[in-house]
Amino acid sequence: MATRVVTPALDQPRSWWERTYLGEVFRGLVITIAHLIKNMVDLRENRVGITYQWPEQPKPLPATFRGEHRLMHRPDGTPRCVACNCCATACPANCIEITGADTGHDGVEKYPIRFDIDILQCVYCGMCVEACPCDAIRMDTGKITDAYFEGPVKILDIDYLMKNQPADKSPISEAIY
Ligand code: SF4
Ligand code: SF4
Repeated sequence: MATRVVTPALDQPRSWWERTYLGEVFRGLVITIAHLIKNMVDLRENRVGITYQWPEQPKPLPATFRGEHRLMHRPDGTPRCVACNCCATACPANCIEITGADTGHDGVEKYPIRFDIDILQCVYCGMCVEACPCDAIRMDTGKITDAYFEGPVKILDIDYLMKNQPADKSPISEAIY
């Protein structure tokens, strides 16, 4: 079988024009100037990304962003949660503590008297939301939990979770249970 020997380009003799590198320098300049003009036109036509002046101007969060939790309300303002513990069982970080109490009527057996989320243990996986059979807990507040320096535990309790409602979203779920 015939073997083709390829001589590396570096071994090829260069002409005097190639040895000046002027052609390559000029070609590089043309590419750079073309990019500059394109970027200026894109900027003028608003086709480039915006620079956000964070923290004064926060970047809008995607619709699927999982932020701090909130507890949904019933129309009478009580928690939709039935203290079934499904969310606490599903939680891989083991950071939900719920204590239920009897409602005393047949329609809904239990309600939470304690609902604590240790938010610094939370990994924002959303499993609690997925596990809830009542659409009683959501993570669509768009709130990013602050860093805390005063202690190792930061509990979002039931009062906080009930009030942690974004202004543009209803605390009452549309679903009927
Ligand atoms: S988001 Fe995940 S880690 Fe956080 S409370 Fe829910 S299940 Fe637990
Ligand atoms: S939030 Fe949902 S899953 Fe968790 S205890 Fe309440 S009803 Fe059950």
